[in-house]
Amino acid sequence: MPIRILPPQLANQIAAGEVVERPASVVKELVENSLDAGADHIEIEIEKGGSKLIRVRDNGSGIAEQELVLALSRHATSKITDLNDLEAICSLGFRGEALASISSVSRLTLTSKTAGQSAAWQASAEGRDMQVEVRPAAHPDGTSIEVLDLFFNTPARRKFLRTDKTEFGHIDELVKRLALSRYDVSWLLSHNGQQVRRLKAALTQDQRQKRVAALCGRVFADHAAFIENQYGDVKIWGWLVHPQACSAQLHCQYSYVNGRMMRDKLLNHAIRQAYGDTLAPDQQPAFVLYLELEPRQVDVNVHPAKHEVRFHQARLIHDFVVSALTDALTQLTPASRAVSQP
Ligand code: ADP
Ligand code: MG
Repeated sequence: MPIRILPPQLANQIAAGEVVERPASVVKELVENSLDAGADHIEIEIEKGGSKLIRVRDNGSGIAEQELVLALSRHATSKITDLNDLEAICSLGFRGEALASISSVSRLTLTSKTAGQSAAWQASAEGRDMQVEVRPAAHPDGTSIEVLDLFFNTPARRKFLRTDKTEFGHIDELVKRLALSRYDVSWLLSHNGQQVRRLKAALTQDQRQKRVAALCGRVFADHAAFIENQYGDVKIWGWLVHPQACSAQLHCQYSYVNGRMMRDKLLNHAIRQAYGDTLAPDQQPAFVLYLELEPRQVDVNVHPAKHEVRFHQARLIHDFVVSALTDALTQLTPASRAVSQP
């Protein structure tokens, strides 16, 4: 076969393979865009576990009419311009691929209005060439993205979708993680027309603790204590559960690096080490923890789905987390009831 350039839709579908694993991955990308756009209210509507409909609506900055075509194009982003930006990244997105990828494996419609525009516009990309069509629409300031029939044109992917209940379970878990990353944002999640989660913005410490209790459950809330520690520019804060209250059922392990949710090996290792032999083999640590450091000290461009980071001073971060958490744990009593508020 001669060498040829792939048609845009096919190239985007291949890229989608890396980031769009299931409906929850679409929700993650769309919500991260809303957060990057400065939204403080985000509504997520799901039908049939996301295989029929995923709609994310925000009150963020919106996308200008003349940028709608770019927003749907691959390698088009408003978040970085050069390598220097990438090395000190503060936004959740930067690859400029999500909308193009999702739109190549679904029927995606983007509707948006910026505060400076008098009317809203809608765009969708179709066919092999992903030609974008733009038309007038009605929408308040902000953006709505509607994703219909995910994987309708990639049957091999569609086959891997689990039951609606399972797929929605993944979405709900993801929304929990995201809601724990941004207390200042209010959230609404519904499935098949039923409201599943409604979280008001949590601005005070008391309201934050209530959000943690609502998302992590009573047992976590009853046994978790608030902790905070800092070493130079590195800071850790959040909630930790006393070892005696950790059980296999209490499954609550959420960690964030600079506001980005993570399943980071180094961090998990440090947390586990801080708990040490206070935990029996069948016990798991339970925590909601936030690590904050200079953006330049972490590399987030490690994996397309951005689940992992690389710390430039890995050893230092690891040891700081171990010592901060060990200190905190020695001061906890099994009944530290810092989260639960009457
Ligand atoms: P990335 O987030 O990596 O930049 P995306 O494909 O997810 O790439 O989005 C492309 C661009 O579209 C973004 O850089 C941003 O400018 C714009 N965009 C996407 N979603 C929104 C949104 N909800 N509100 C405002 N702008 C958005
Ligand atoms: Mg994005």
